[in-house]
Amino acid sequence: MSNSKDSIPCIHKFGGTSVGGAEELKAVANIIRNQTGPTVVVVSAMAGVSDSLNNLLTNSDEGSWTTSLSKLVEDLRNRHQNALIKLIEGGPERIAVADKIDHILDEVSVLKFPESETGLPELSDQLMAVGEDLMVEMTVTALKSQGVLSIGLDARDIICTDSDFGSAVPDIEAIGHLVPDGVIPFLDLGTVPVIQGFIGSDTEGRTTTLGRGGSDLTAVLIGAALGVPKVVLWTDVDGIYSADPNFIATAEVIPEVGFGEAVELSYFGAKVIHSAAVKHAMAQGVLLRIKNTFKPNLKGSLIHFKATETFAAVVRKKDVAMIEVEAFPTALAYGFLARVFEVLGRYQVPVDLVATSHRYTAFTIDRSQDLSELQCELSTFSEVRVVTDISTVTVVGRGLLRESGLNATVFSVVDKTPVYLISQASDVSISFVVDDAESPKLVSRLHSSLIERRMVQKSSS
Ligand code: ADP
Ligand code: ASP
Ligand code: MG
Repeated sequence: MSNSKDSIPCIHKFGGTSVGGAEELKAVANIIRNQTGPTVVVVSAMAGVSDSLNNLLTNSDEGSWTTSLSKLVEDLRNRHQNALIKLIEGGPERIAVADKIDHILDEVSVLKFPESETGLPELSDQLMAVGEDLMVEMTVTALKSQGVLSIGLDARDIICTDSDFGSAVPDIEAIGHLVPDGVIPFLDLGTVPVIQGFIGSDTEGRTTTLGRGGSDLTAVLIGAALGVPKVVLWTDVDGIYSADPNFIATAEVIPEVGFGEAVELSYFGAKVIHSAAVKHAMAQGVLLRIKNTFKPNLKGSLIHFKATETFAAVVRKKDVAMIEVEAFPTALAYGFLARVFEVLGRYQVPVDLVATSHRYTAFTIDRSQDLSELQCELSTFSEVRVVTDISTVTVVGRGLLRESGLNATVFSVVDKTPVYLISQASDVSISFVVDDAESPKLVSRLHSSLIERRMVQKSSS
């Protein structure tokens, strides 16, 4: 590969499964070696590592912390050192990288359990970052072993965020200066910078994370700050499919997806791309290409400004809670909804779907948050009912409201499933809230009917 001062860089982000071991890292290095212009690489943690780190905190208390942490550290040491042995031959280079891996893990192994619960989110981000820290070392090694000049840069120096540990908000203005200053000098030298996805730091220099799956966002933040037209997100599937391909065997790759549809798809369950990344890319005019690391010759999917025609995909979001509020009979005829949303705003609870009538309002939110205080406050002026163990199933496309017969197909399928809530706020998506247990069957039935319908339309046109 060659770099030149005048050409526009390309950002390549590799997800966890793309960096799952030595063979995968060789595939990554091969892709980068074949690039013809300045290149920046963003990496996630090795597959499964972020989940293990996350589980450690969820399942530990002060008493079990030291033992559980050292067990996990040894597991991570083995995984990364074993991959390293398969990645490059023994010698001084391998010893140097092995030492770096040990050093990163030794620093983690002395992290202390916080004295108060308020310290947990900060500890969690320090801990979660280790997966990406390790992967930068591994990726630089893989690239160098294939003759690609590369250097590891620390995302903490260029991705500045607020201090909301676990879902930190990037400071776009600061990143707009820090990224070019931190990255371009290396590109000018013909070097490939390798940067951790998912992590950043706050104004006090403390490690933060952007939310699970946030490496996609890092890639877009870096791309937008460098003014690139396109970012490539490399993953373990052939692109964006009409349903999760690991769940629906007949799902098809969608070659082109409009930004509007991609936002809905990602938000309502298509894990293949992080919804904040799509939103930022859309706002900054950065196109996204989704490709399979292990089949680099396939075109994959392009997310761009052209709307997708008709039905695109069916997606499912689990771990949802629905809150139903019923105004007390004495309530005034106006102002009830405003009150409900004022409380939600104060508790900073993002609402996914809403349906409302004169006395009732139902909305869905992410189930992971603690609902008790919110529920208590809503109960001061309404009857509150919380429904859990539910999922949202969403059909995404363009012109869903306008396309004759499409809603009829959707509703005839849903007809067989008990539904808690229906929401269709635009012609880009229609969502149904159903029991968790019903949701896989509903996705499958909707997908086959909509794909069948599309085939019939194609053959008759
Ligand atoms: P990465 O580690 O590369 O970021 P993710 O695991 O975050 O990858 O996302 C890829 C996964 O997204 C796929 O393995 C697939 O199971 C899942 N997925 C869910 N819905 C879709 C969809 N509509 N199209 C493609 N992949 C999907
Ligand atoms: N490793 C992080 C996670 O699993 C970030 C990412 O994969 O994008 O959430
Ligand atoms: Mg991902």
